[in-house]
Amino acid sequence: MSFRATVLTLYPEMFPGTLGQALAGKALARGDWSLEAVQIRDYATDKHRSVDDTPAGGGAGMVMRADVVAAALDASCDEADPRPRLLMSPRGKPLTQARVRDLAAGPGAVIVCGRFEGVDQRVIDGRGLEEVSIGDYVLSGGEVAAQVLLDAVIRLLPGVMGNAQSGDTESFEGNLLEPPHYTRPAEWEGRTIPEVLTSGNHAKIDEWRREEAEKLTRERRPDLLGG
Ligand code: SAH
Repeated sequence: MSFRATVLTLYPEMFPGTLGQALAGKALARGDWSLEAVQIRDYATDKHRSVDDTPAGGGAGMVMRADVVAAALDASCDEADPRPRLLMSPRGKPLTQARVRDLAAGPGAVIVCGRFEGVDQRVIDGRGLEEVSIGDYVLSGGEVAAQVLLDAVIRLLPGVMGNAQSGDTESFEGNLLEPPHYTRPAEWEGRTIPEVLTSGNHAKIDEWRREEAEKLTRERRPDLLGG
């Protein structure tokens, strides 16, 4: 069974979006993963098909209604559905490569994209939604965030990444940022490629890459090293 993504959104036409191209798009066409974009508005019950209302207690903006979001969720995944139910949210736990790996090893994900000020707390609690953030900034909606999450997951699915090896040495695998890359030409604007990389000595090359990765991580992201 391949990875199944169900995305609940007010803008289903935004999908597959970037996920329809390149690596993820080819994997989608091959059936390595599947995508269903559900229009939340189809589950509105009043004659105006409204999905949002003014915030209880007053204040700016609108809030997505619990009953409408819940109806969309209930129609998309039943109690027995083993997939985690995520809500893209700036209040959520920041997404990490470790969580991405967990998701990629699972059956898929049901992802709710917020709009406006967000969604009524009762549907988060009532349907056990796990809030996931893609970083400490505020987007206008969860659709781009959902595509970020899915892009990160899809490239890890079996058979998706052409060169399987490039998965292990890159940033965040093993808590290190990636060392610098070089390719031809050997000299560009007077800049050359570090000699060790053209030496053919693979033990030396590995050692150099490891050192560069550690140096970069110490300089830029000491938090990854636990310090
Ligand atoms: N009023 C909210 C922000 C709402 S932004 C607050 O201050 O927390 C509208 C929607 O965009 C959110 O419901 C969420 O689905 C999405 N979104 C915005 N920023 C995000 C982020 N950093 N990560 C994930 N989703 C985000």
